[in-house]
Amino acid sequence: MSETKTRTFKPGDRLVLATHNKGKYRENAALLAPFGLEVLSAGDLGLPEPEETGATFEENAVLKARAACAATGLPAIADDSGLSVTALNGEPGIYTARWAGPQRDFFVAMKRVHEELGDSADRSGFFVCNLSVAWPDGQGGVGDTASFEGRVEGTLVWPIRGERGFGFDPMFQPKGFDITFGEMDPEKKEAMSHRAVAFAKLSKALLEGA
Ligand code: IMP
Repeated sequence: MSETKTRTFKPGDRLVLATHNKGKYRENAALLAPFGLEVLSAGDLGLPEPEETGATFEENAVLKARAACAATGLPAIADDSGLSVTALNGEPGIYTARWAGPQRDFFVAMKRVHEELGDSADRSGFFVCNLSVAWPDGQGGVGDTASFEGRVEGTLVWPIRGERGFGFDPMFQPKGFDITFGEMDPEKKEAMSHRAVAFAKLSKALLEGA
């Protein structure tokens, strides 16, 4: 993870959130709300979605942030996240969304994790979120970037439990709890999630007033 302290954001600054996913936009915009920034969405601006060709969460987040920055001339923040399962050598990892297939059916994806785990004794895994920022270089290009990563450790359970949250939430029981993210009050989940941990690092480094 690289954390070059380059520039900070102050109230009134404009930036673009490099996501076409409305849920992610809402969550990240809510985290940024207290800082008085003008937050635009790549989806609303009709920006093209770059192909996620990176080999890591950080590479994919940087690639998305750079693309949105290049297209708008504004600083851009992107996130890339997923589930890493220890006994599956870190899979599905950067392919987490793809395990849900073209229909984005996360029951299918969770069942695949369950089946691939078989009777493995190690049911541990973690969610990871990488938040990356790209700044314009002032000459029409992209300059510096910075990346921040958050993780939350837990256990994969079967059968799945809970209908709250999204994605793999009903299969993921965070360490120290006896309920899954799918059973947890969303506000509580959002306060302790991998996204919240990454955002806390970003805000401490880059947001004035944090
Ligand atoms: P991407 O970051 O858009 O490439 O997709 C990440 C995928 O990881 C999502 O589609 C979800 O399935 C999964 N994921 C990421 N964060 C969470 C979470 O907080 N709960 C459940 N699943 C998550």
